[in-house]
Amino acid sequence: MADLALVNANVLTMDPGRPLVSAVTITGGRIEALAASSAQFRLAELSADRVVDLHGATLLPGFGDAHNHMIGSGRSLAEIDLSSPPIGSLDELYAAVARRAEATAPGDWVTGSGYDQNKIGAHPDRDALDRAAPGRLVWLRHTSGHMCVVNSPVLAALGLEAAATDVPGGRVDTYPDGRPSGLLEERAQALVGALVYPFPVAFLADAIDRAGAQYLADGITSCTEAGIGGGWIGHSPVELAAYQAARDTGRLHVRVELMVASEVLHALGAHPDDGLEWGLDLGIRTGFGDDWLRIGAVKIFTDGSLVGRTAAVHDEYAAPGEGHGYLQADGAELRAAIITAHRSGWQVATHAIGDRAIDVALEAYAQALVQYPRRDPRHRIEHFALVQPRQVAQAAALGVIAVPQGRFASELGDGMLAAVGPKRHDWLYRQRSLLEAGMVLPGSSDRPVVAGAPLLGLHDMVNRRTASGAPFNPGEAITALQALYAYTFGSAYASRQENIKGSITPGKLADLVVLSEDPTAVSPDRIAGLQVLATIIDGQCRYDVGAIEGLS
Ligand SMILES: [Zn+2]
Repeated sequence: MADLALVNANVLTMDPGRPLVSAVTITGGRIEALAASSAQFRLAELSADRVVDLHGATLLPGFGDAHNHMIGSGRSLAEIDLSSPPIGSLDELYAAVARRAEATAPGDWVTGSGYDQNKIGAHPDRDALDRAAPGRLVWLRHTSGHMCVVNSPVLAALGLEAAATDVPGGRVDTYPDGRPSGLLEERAQALVGALVYPFPVAFLADAIDRAGAQYLADGITSCTEAGIGGGWIGHSPVELAAYQAARDTGRLHVRVELMVASEVLHALGAHPDDGLEWGLDLGIRTGFGDDWLRIGAVKIFTDGSLVGRTAAVHDEYAAPGEGHGYLQADGAELRAAIITAHRSGWQVATHAIGDRAIDVALEAYAQALVQYPRRDPRHRIEHFALVQPRQVAQAAALGVIAVPQGRFASELGDGMLAAVGPKRHDWLYRQRSLLEAGMVLPGSSDRPVVAGAPLLGLHDMVNRRTASGAPFNPGEAITALQALYAYTFGSAYASRQENIKGSITPGKLADLVVLSEDPTAVSPDRIAGLQVLATIIDGQCRYDVGAIEGLS
């Protein structure tokens, strides 16, 4: 007898071989059997300890976010929210900083995240921040995660009060008189990190707890954390310990795959025959762990962001004098790092946004596969944002998984359209052309860069409109069913776990989400407004709004 049967459901299995299902049984945390109707459920003599009637609600595999920053999300839930809305202008931003400063002791940190200069007119300014938060240390992170602004006490602590220094792979912005403005780009952000990092494990475990509770409410059952342990995205060299601590105390709410920042990999001293040049101690690499917590790809940054004009593009940004962006290291050095990681058995996830950075990643993957052939390495390109038509074909031929964020359309789309100019609008954040090239598309948010609920992501993947209502490369729109497939099977595939999740298939993990309505049956403009009624992991109800009798 099964542990649980969910009957009278509109089941979207995301398993092409099993389209017509209305009842699902679960045993031992796994999907056991499927039935096309309640009658068939009885005919097949399926029975369960507990039978829950979903009254026609839509049942799907749980959502997987293939690229998110979980600790960053949990942290930003406790920081000043500088995103727009609610923040409509620079003055409103300074007022929000002033309110938080009043509640903060002198000498302590006032932190905020999510501001976007494209929406409030300009980056915040150190002098105005000094006035808003006298005597406090102010650190405001840009929505892209690629920039931040600090005030004078922080600059003083960094020795940058009066003049900038060169930072390889980054930039300390200055006023015309040479005095730093407070804006720190890309790797220059690591300077602030040195003042606050490492965070204590207990602080990080709290953030994991806070983020995970939110993820469950959004219908997420699995996510890939896009970089821990080092570089400017890491929070502590023992960041994995925070995930273990959260798990040990029952506060790891969703399944997590952890990408490892490339800075953490080091020479292993293994036998030369092994080819294991680079890795983590003991030879730990991609795939180590279990269903709840495992090591994913190594994350290698090649460039920055489009809205910040720091992504490396072949042709200049649209406005005069905005340049070509930059690679975060020498191209040959980046290629060598990618090839070494490949040779050492890692899945490689290269952050590449501009078409010039994407070429670096594609060339490196191509060379790696020729020099050190490996079956199905499933290397990834994170964001894959500004993509020439030939690059789609190249990525498909190499078996690369592109991980674009359709979700960016409505929150960052206007800024991106302006950055690249109309000639390149139809290269932005492709989806449909990737599917047409035979690639598997995952669903992801890059949360906390933007609000990360999958229903918002699905909405944007289908509707492709910016905040101002402009079409965002609408030729790349996909159907709601394709978008759901991305957020379920596609994300499982990108983390090499489609054998255990991503569809409602007997034998797979019983990770499920119940929605109020069917995203493939409502008009596209309503997708974002649908409700998550319940989230189930391992056959256990972990989140429930109380709409389904007998579920929890
Ligand atoms: Zn990211």
